[in-house]
Amino acid sequence: MKRKGLMVLIAASEAAPLAKTGGLGDVVEGLSCALGDLGCEVAVALPGYEKIIESCNNITLRAGNLPVSLGKRHLDADILEGRLASGAKLYLVSQDAFFARPGIYGDRHGEYPDNPERFIFFSRAIPLLCEAAGIQPDIILANDWHTGLVMPLINEGLVPGCTGVFTIHNMGYLGLVPPDRIENIGLPDTYYGLDGLEFFGQMSLLKAGIVYAQAITTVSPTYAREIQTTEFGAGLDGLMRSVKNRLHGILNGVDYRTWNPATDRYVVTGYSPRDLSGKATCKKELLDIMGLSTEFIQRPLIGMVTRLVEQKGCSLVIQAADRLFDLGVNLVLLGSGDAHLEAGFSGLKDRYPDRFGLRLTFDEVLAHKIIAGSDMLLMPSLYEPCGLTQIYSLKYGTIPVVRGTGGLNDTVNDPDDGHWDRTGFKFYGLKITELVRAVERAVHAFHNKKIWTAMVTKAMQQDFSWHRSAQEYLALFENTMATGKENLK
Ligand code: ADP
Repeated sequence: MKRKGLMVLIAASEAAPLAKTGGLGDVVEGLSCALGDLGCEVAVALPGYEKIIESCNNITLRAGNLPVSLGKRHLDADILEGRLASGAKLYLVSQDAFFARPGIYGDRHGEYPDNPERFIFFSRAIPLLCEAAGIQPDIILANDWHTGLVMPLINEGLVPGCTGVFTIHNMGYLGLVPPDRIENIGLPDTYYGLDGLEFFGQMSLLKAGIVYAQAITTVSPTYAREIQTTEFGAGLDGLMRSVKNRLHGILNGVDYRTWNPATDRYVVTGYSPRDLSGKATCKKELLDIMGLSTEFIQRPLIGMVTRLVEQKGCSLVIQAADRLFDLGVNLVLLGSGDAHLEAGFSGLKDRYPDRFGLRLTFDEVLAHKIIAGSDMLLMPSLYEPCGLTQIYSLKYGTIPVVRGTGGLNDTVNDPDDGHWDRTGFKFYGLKITELVRAVERAVHAFHNKKIWTAMVTKAMQQDFSWHRSAQEYLALFENTMATGKENLK
């Protein structure tokens, strides 16, 4: 039942499908929709990237020339208004000097060097946006370092009556501002000490979000525990331990309107747990698209869809490849990212042209086809805050083989762990032998049709829809508003 709800403004650097490089974009889209379904009035604020403005035809100018200062520079922000597919209102903070570029974070030369200023500008425009658009959010939910600065701005009283909640999607990106650019942040000097933004002589915009948010969430319960340890805390583990009373692990949901093998418009034949025949057709098409012989249809096909960064365990896969191929599997990979990993996988393609299908690009349609057409999904992440790809795979009956860390640990049930719902295979160490052993166990199961079909069916029955996660967010919002700034003491 709908009730008169909270006004929630989600500030983020991505929202699918308009601007997406990874899971953050999917989360903003899915959560905004699910909070709307729970009766909240939801708006999403994004930078006015060129490609959004060019691709949306329902955008209008809401307010022009809002003055934002960055150190000694003064730049104007225009606020554009539109609507996301989820129904949430969309506000774009537009400034050509920062956002009229082809990439979200960078281009083929690497990250844009002025990324700190681009997202400081965006964050500083949020209070002005609220005023100009005439909205009074009860909650601003900021996401990752790009919008961490919004939390101290709320603390400064710049958004009256608003409670700040900050979500950490990835602790590995600290949003560092070098010493000679600190004045661009524009906070009073009292914020720049060790108990504020300072991180080893630089300022961290991620830390800004953590220190000044009234509640902090991260995207899985296991990751909430892990970031309090030296291994996963990226140098902020002490801080995370000190804020653990306001730190909450809420597992991401997935949007089954987009990720459902029965209705997916990108897969060649739909299928469901009751009739899996379409999955074989998807596999055949995938082998074809990736240039692998369809004679391989009986062999296990492993898929990977990933940003090519060390976090995702890519080097481990490259090192383990010979032994994986010895198991009789074939591999298809879609990914883009770090040059040395792209080169590593290209080298592998040269060595195994008939067994390895590789696409070094970002391709939403192919991502769906790989998740549908593969038998297994490999995700050997060194750390994984939540991970969505393995949750999508479960729904598509594509059995995840994952490292048991963060959200991977929370979403995949390994038969060896004594679970009833056997949905995938896990390994825990960082050794190649452990990865290979997990794949070997999966291959073994694959060749036993009865066991495999039972696992595929069980995987497809798992429910990670947004509804439950959004309810947890809503409860947290209400609780945090009731306790107010007490949390920061
Ligand atoms: P992360 O957010 O760390 O990148 P997740 O597993 O949470 O990892 O989310 C990744 C999302 O990005 C998924 O929707 C996945 O399908 C998508 N994705 C990653 N790389 C690509 C790519 N090269 N092409 C298309 N989609 C991709």
